[in-house]
Amino acid sequence: MSGPATDIPVIADDAVESWGRVHRGRHQVAIPRSPEQIPVAVSASSALSGSTLAFGLGRAYGDSPLNLGGGLVKTTGMDRFLAFDRATGLLRAEAGVSLDALLRVAVPSGWFVPVTPGSKFVTLAGAVANDVHGKNHHGVGCFGRHVRQFGLWRSDRGALVCGPEENPDLFAATIGGLGLTGIIQWVEVQLAPIGSAEMDVETERFDSLADFFALSEEDAEWPYTVAWVDTLASGENLGRGVFSRGRHAADGARRPHKPGGPRVPVTPPGFLLNRWTVGAFNQLYYRKPGSSFRGRQHYDPFFYPLDRIRNWNRLYGPHGFYQWQCVVPPEDARTVIAELLGRIVLSGEASFLAVLKTFGDIASPGLLSFPMAGPTLALDFPNRGLRTLALLDALDRVVVEAGGRIYPAKDGRMASATFQSGFSNWRELEALRDPLLISSFWRRVTGIDSAPSGEA
Ligand SMILES: Cc1cc2nc3c(=O)[nH]c(=O)nc-3n(C[C@H](O)[C@H](O)[C@H](O)COP(=O)(O)OP(=O)(O)OC[C@H]3O[C@@H](n4cnc5c(N)ncnc54)[C@H](O)[C@@H]3O)c2cc1C
Repeated sequence: MSGPATDIPVIADDAVESWGRVHRGRHQVAIPRSPEQIPVAVSASSALSGSTLAFGLGRAYGDSPLNLGGGLVKTTGMDRFLAFDRATGLLRAEAGVSLDALLRVAVPSGWFVPVTPGSKFVTLAGAVANDVHGKNHHGVGCFGRHVRQFGLWRSDRGALVCGPEENPDLFAATIGGLGLTGIIQWVEVQLAPIGSAEMDVETERFDSLADFFALSEEDAEWPYTVAWVDTLASGENLGRGVFSRGRHAADGARRPHKPGGPRVPVTPPGFLLNRWTVGAFNQLYYRKPGSSFRGRQHYDPFFYPLDRIRNWNRLYGPHGFYQWQCVVPPEDARTVIAELLGRIVLSGEASFLAVLKTFGDIASPGLLSFPMAGPTLALDFPNRGLRTLALLDALDRVVVEAGGRIYPAKDGRMASATFQSGFSNWRELEALRDPLLISSFWRRVTGIDSAPSGEA
């Protein structure tokens, strides 16, 4: 790793926003070009406010990647591959390397990212900081399980290597640690072998929530499973949708995805995605002939359908949108998911991207990882102010009552009591927080706005 640790210009950027576009504002931004420049970037970006935070590709939806009024260290300039053993699939790369770039390098050699979220435009460090999960959670757990070690720079301890044996407390706290324990410099991850870039895929319509849970019971037969749910269907059709499952094909070309895709040129008015347009889409999608399909598909449309339009988040209009994702324990899960969907139907709010999946029980090495065994429901709602917030608060109450939790990477509004009930060990992370790092999310859900006390 080379690169001079010279002064780094700091930009006062008013327009830093996260993916939901509800939270945006001014930050003092520094962009290091190599891990050696991280100390300078941290001190330069925190000089005015006394705090900073790492920012990757900004695909977290709410205020967890932001530090409004404070500093940010944008990591996408640290984008070099450091080592790749094509025989074993062990890859080491700088923190800002995206899964998009990683797949282009790995797929032709017969390797795939072990766990992927629904967008390839996330950085390696972002995948660690939220310990992201994918359609294969029931088989292989979260991203953090496949991380062998990483480099972490802390303002109070300098550069450290963290792994299960070396600095194990910081290893655990950084996986799912929301960027608070230090700036990740590089990540070493074990990739998964594949025979082809193609997927064998099956999609099937289901008519009710009971049918979804019946299909989920067959999850063990498929490495990847997920369902789309029609959140406007009610009565006996409550929870109907399309179930999709897939596995990497054993043979075929190892051609990585193509770059590019169209962009939304301007922010359209907010009425583009409303109850009626979403209702029409749901009818079409549920009934379209392809909703029951068996065949081959490239990995790109299978894992990343939303990446096809680069900044689709603008379709929600100038006020942005809220994502909301919960997981609830398996006991009473059917009743709880029915209750959540019933409340959404009654509210008249439409969710365009409603995803339902059952997490498995593979424990994550992360201290504050989100997944636990049980169904997880992810929704998005255009931001209509108090109306939307009231619905989401009501959904939170159902989740808390059931002993579940809300995903911080998607959140921009949950009450601190909701967070602290879902993540009752959050003080252990606070005790290991880097004294110069904090996010708008952490201030909001913990009420803390200063250096950590060191008390767990
Ligand atoms: C279309 C779409 C689909 C998604 N699907 C899923 C999904 O299926 N499963 C899932 O789990 N998530 C999903 N997500 C969320 C996304 O995977 C996570 O929010 C991920 O963390 C984003 O990575 P990023 O590089 O954009 O990081 P950012 O959003 O920029 O930051 C996320 C967190 O990482 C921290 N961070 C970034 N770089 C560093 C660093 N170098 N050192 C320390 N901390 C750092 C930040 O401080 C912040 O806390 C999805 C997001 C989108 C937009």
